[in-house]
Amino acid sequence: MVFFNRLLSSVLLAILYASYSNAAPSPSSDATYSTQYVKDLGNGAKVQIFHPPSNYSTFGEGFDTPSSLSDAPIEDKTVSFVASQLNIDSGKVSFKSGYTNDNGESFGYAQQLHDSVPIANAVANVAFKNNKVVAFGQSFVDTSKAADSKPSIDVSTVVSKVEGILQGKKNDIEPTVKYLAQPDGSIPLVHAFQVQNDNAGTFYEALVDAHSGELVSVTDFVAEASYRAVPIYKQDITQGLELITNPSLPSASPSGWHYVRGVNTTVTFGNNVVAYKGATTGTTKQSSSGLVFDYTYNPNVGPTAGSNVDAARTNAFYLINAYHDTLYQYGFTESKFNFQYDNLGKGGAGNDPVLVSVQDASGVNNAFFATPPDGQPGQCTTYIFTYTNPNRDSVLSNDIVIHELTHGLSNRLTGGGTAACLQTLESRGLGEGWSDAVADWFVHSASPQITDFVFLPWLYNNPRGARTRPYSTSTTTNGYRYADIGQMNQQHSAFGPS
Ligand SMILES: [Zn+2]
Repeated sequence: MVFFNRLLSSVLLAILYASYSNAAPSPSSDATYSTQYVKDLGNGAKVQIFHPPSNYSTFGEGFDTPSSLSDAPIEDKTVSFVASQLNIDSGKVSFKSGYTNDNGESFGYAQQLHDSVPIANAVANVAFKNNKVVAFGQSFVDTSKAADSKPSIDVSTVVSKVEGILQGKKNDIEPTVKYLAQPDGSIPLVHAFQVQNDNAGTFYEALVDAHSGELVSVTDFVAEASYRAVPIYKQDITQGLELITNPSLPSASPSGWHYVRGVNTTVTFGNNVVAYKGATTGTTKQSSSGLVFDYTYNPNVGPTAGSNVDAARTNAFYLINAYHDTLYQYGFTESKFNFQYDNLGKGGAGNDPVLVSVQDASGVNNAFFATPPDGQPGQCTTYIFTYTNPNRDSVLSNDIVIHELTHGLSNRLTGGGTAACLQTLESRGLGEGWSDAVADWFVHSASPQITDFVFLPWLYNNPRGARTRPYSTSTTTNGYRYADIGQMNQQHSAFGPS
């Protein structure tokens, strides 16, 4: 667990660095692309989404904080550092949130104030390590064009109009008043309140000018994400990759697949799954903004060529998250020892997502799942298969990945999360059978007929696949009986043959 905390913090730090350096202002049109977005709300209504250009600096070995602050709380250190760096009064900086991880690294988040009212999109973040500032990002703005800080219209007078525009209902969360910096330098004062429509799946924070009553902008709380992947009900890539939009299930992953402990990620790293190659920092970035992971797979070249490794990590990330969310519906939840970094206070031990190594260099022609007890990450190791030219990537064969994940399921569900139950030959053989059965169940979940199931036909480039017989209701196709295991001495052949 100690190891994993260290690992997670370094990965999160890398992600924070990456995302902030991407947001850094640039003289090209990219700056506009990263700061402005016109959102179409339907019904002809459009609003401007704006984030002021940000600056981000790192300080190598670290930037000393004043010794007088060395023992101060993170709140004071953050406010003091932001004010001194930007040469502004500390009364214009409001501490928003922060945390310290197990390695003593601290992260503070602050907002700019004008007339004691926060400016929603003028923010700062400071990273401390060993009492030194190692990174600083900020998007503070010139406030000379800020509107009067006292609303001239009451929020109650604008709610019904905004509900009509956003096609939802205001919820019970208390409205607030804040500023919102705009691209032209103006800073309107806004009433902020939440509008939801559970049937349509929409959930906004409306930002309405507190002087004119116009809808200025919205915050869209629904994170969209799309992945080009083999849908979980298909067996392997021969059945086609599809661009799958918003596959996460809110009941299983309430903050989506790209949010870990206060940090939104834009890579194949999330609360349930880290999909990487080589090292856990070797994740795949979104192919375009808005959590789009759209990498095409070129079957005419090897798994490691071109964007194929990105397609592979994307499929692994999608598939294992989809497996998490599906099994969650059937009871494999936090208190039943599932795999999640943050258990969101719902029981069980956290710090244990599934780490999936794609194209792992330690072997070929197989895949493994190591299941330590609840509270330690599950390690899924997947190899390239060399039976064909070009080679084939096992992570694009959903059947083998689901088989491996089901070792995690069965080893956690037997013995109450100890992962110590399935150790003898017969119980290991049962584990192999359950893993094949769950792969079969996913692959055939979309078909009304019960048909024979062959495991890994694509990876073995053989219509008989990896086992000695297909799974079948026909005793001609598969005549094995329980008595036959007396003649078998290998866990895979014991119940059909990774
Ligand atoms: Zn297995």
